[in-house]
Amino acid sequence: MRDLERYALECMEELDRLNIKYSPNISFVINTRAKARFGLCERIGNSYVIEISQLLLDERVDEKKGLKSTIMHELLHTCRGCMKHTGRWAELAKTVNEAYGYNIKRATNPTERGIPEELQIPAKYLVQCDECGALIPRQRMSALIKQPEKYRCAKCGGRLTRIK
Ligand SMILES: [Zn+2]
Ligand SMILES: [Zn+2]
Repeated sequence: MRDLERYALECMEELDRLNIKYSPNISFVINTRAKARFGLCERIGNSYVIEISQLLLDERVDEKKGLKSTIMHELLHTCRGCMKHTGRWAELAKTVNEAYGYNIKRATNPTERGIPEELQIPAKYLVQCDECGALIPRQRMSALIKQPEKYRCAKCGGRLTRIK
């Protein structure tokens, strides 16, 4: 398993080189249960907790598209005025993508993150939240799978798209 702290430090050094100011008070936590969400950034008072799914620490996952792009996505949320995926966050994501060739986006599907098929959620159908990236797996055809646009993400209220 990869060392999350090491990769987090690498990402922070890369942001330093671009003079992008992330929060000095960040703790990193490995989420061992989340399989349907890759990263999460929570603000608690003046500090931040970044949760990274253990799945991304697997050696088979693409280091750059999977692990480091996710860490960068969450680190940028700790910059001033960057809790949303628009405005300043989107500008900084573009800057970092251009400087280092990352693929930082609002939400990405498992394949875009370089997660091999065998590590992905075994589901016949998959719906994803455009906003927070949460994945909703289903084994059977249902109203949600047929018309995801009629539903909203239970976690954040974002729009849903069928990706499989
Ligand atoms: Zn985000
Ligand atoms: Zn959501």
